[in-house]
Parts: sequence; structure tokens; C-alpha cells
Amino acid sequence: MPTCPFCGFTGKLTAEHVFGNWLSRIGLDLEPMAHGAGPLNRVGQDLGVRPPFRQTVRVCGGCNNGWMSRLEAVAARVLTPFILGEAGQIAAEDAGAVAAWVQKTALTAMLVSSETQRSAGYGLPQSEYRGLSNARDEMQPLPASQFWVGGYTGESRLASTWVTPLTVTASELSEPDRPQGYAMTIVLGQLLLHGVRFTTPSLQVEVTTRQELPQLWPPAEQVAWSSGMPVDDAAYLGFAAGKDLRSMERHIEVRPWKPATELPESRTVGSMVELPTACGKHVVYYPAGLVDEALRGRFYAFGTACECGTAYLVQTEPDGAHCKAVNSVDVISELYESLPGREVVLEDQHGMFPCKRLPEASER
Ligand SMILES: [Zn+2]
Ligand SMILES: [Zn+2]
Ligand SMILES: [Zn+2]
Repeated sequence: MPTCPFCGFTGKLTAEHVFGNWLSRIGLDLEPMAHGAGPLNRVGQDLGVRPPFRQTVRVCGGCNNGWMSRLEAVAARVLTPFILGEAGQIAAEDAGAVAAWVQKTALTAMLVSSETQRSAGYGLPQSEYRGLSNARDEMQPLPASQFWVGGYTGESRLASTWVTPLTVTASELSEPDRPQGYAMTIVLGQLLLHGVRFTTPSLQVEVTTRQELPQLWPPAEQVAWSSGMPVDDAAYLGFAAGKDLRSMERHIEVRPWKPATELPESRTVGSMVELPTACGKHVVYYPAGLVDEALRGRFYAFGTACECGTAYLVQTEPDGAHCKAVNSVDVISELYESLPGREVVLEDQHGMFPCKRLPEASER
């Protein structure tokens, strides 16, 4: 029986929009465009190109039509002008619901990744979902959290949700084996929303942002939009990765949890994904369709070579494409041939792209 990730209800679930349907009706450009969601929009988390605001996940009718819909109503009323770039204020009495909406949207976007990916740790703990659902009547985010509002002046995102795991450490200490919190970033039109939540409350530290964004939660007085330094496309990746968070406590740092963030960065170029190679000088490309496949839990291997003649065996995994071997073209071809799985040829305007569909873990 399907289970609602938020309240634990077992039974028939309904489709909840990651971004509420109201966003389709406020006059934003609805051209299909690249969407992102996930713990860092590495390759495996890019949602591919589709008309905006269509992405849905499964939650129960009680959550969908109850507290989630109440949060959507507040967000639509308060945020619509800012999304369209009109200056204004957020009243203190709306701050809790808006911050809770940011948290709800981040948690919901994380549900886009498959069950397998989430159980592999590419997602947020179930207690986050239950906690927000249990506090449904408070119209507030989970405790030990802070939220900010700002402006987005970039061009390449219309709607995007990012979640980055964070650690809280004294700088000398080594990397903890699990994150102690996470940063959430939402872009909608010209509006930027950012939040942190410490899942280990004893490690909560007060933080600010490099952009000196006005704090939405915990609430002060009314918040003016927009003030603070806007975030453009050049600054966005670092910002969403939590790199602009500043701890207010001496000797304590809040920073991205390395295992989640130190993956090689990829970006999408047309319908091809660019992957930096181990030679350090070149990139190789593969079809963005493999990203969609990875989101559905289907993984592939392919051989490729860069300009310097070095060949690579690449496999897609829940968190992106990984280079599995670096060698001569002959050796990589042999390795590729020896892999289990069925060869398929993907075809698009760039040509033919042979790759192997890897057997599911259970079939191996
Ligand atoms: Zn529910
Ligand atoms: Zn090279
Ligand atoms: Zn991996």
C-alpha cells in the first residue's frame, strides 16, 4: 500500500504539485525550460526540460487538500508580487506560513527522486516529513531553522528547488559521517527564498548570509522585498550549496557536507550534459535523456574519449555520472563490452549514442 511521506497515511494517494498550480496563473513565461530539484542539481537530480510547474509527487488527500493547500494559499497571496518583481512587504504574521511553505516545497521536491535514491541517502530524513505534518496547525517551519528572502537576477532559472546537506563543525575537526542540517533554496521568477534547518538541534548555530538578506524567520518586524545583495547566475551555485552561510559563532563553521557536494560539476548544454573528465582539460558529452532515466532509477554505462585521446568508462548513478575507469580506447572498449546489460542506442539531433542499460541491483 502506498504511504503518505508526510503523515504516514496508508492508502490511495493524490498528486501534489511540487510548485503549486497558482504559479501557472500569475503571468510568468511558461515556455518549457530546464528544471532543477535535489540535493545539489548534479546530473542525477536535474529534472530535465519540461513545461514548468507540472512536476507532481504522491501525498495523501488529507495533507494535499489540508495543511499543504493552506500554506499554498498564503504563499500565493504573499509571494506573487515578488515573483513578478514588484517591491513590497511581508507582514510578521505571514512569516511563519511562508517559511513553512519553503520547507514544505523543499521536502516535496525531494520526493521527486526515487525511493531507492532516498534510501541511499539522497534525500531528507523521514522525521522531517513527519515533523512538519505533525505541526500542521502551527503554520510554522520546523524548529531550529532560519529563513531569508532575497532577489534573484539570473536568467537561467524560472523555478528551482535545491537542498544541500550541511555540517556544523569547529574548523579543525574532520568531516562528520552524516550531515547535521540542510539548506533549502527556492527560486521563483525574481524571488529567492533560502532557509537552513538543523536536524541535530543541539548543534544549531545562528547564521547570516554573505548577501545580508533580510531574515524572514524567526520573525522580526515586517520584511521588505527586496533588500540585500541579489543573487545572479554566477553566484547561484555557491549560494544554493550553502557556501554563503556565515556562522555567528566564533570557531564554529556551517558548511556544505562534503560527500554530497564534492562531486564533479556537470551542466546541461542543449540536450547534452557536459561532464568534466579526469584529464583536467576536456569535457565529454552525453544525452540529457540519461538524466531522466537516472531519476527513474535506470542507470547506464558508456565509453567515451576526450580530445587528448584518453578514454573513459562512465556510469550514471543516483547522484550523477561517475567516471569508473580511465585508460586507452582499447581497454575502455573491452571493459564496456564485458559489462552486463543490454546495449541501447539513444538517438537525438546530435546523432547516435550507444550505451548499456545496467541491470537493477536486485538482478545483479
Ligand atoms: Zn498525508
Ligand atoms: Zn583530455
Ligand atoms: Zn555515486
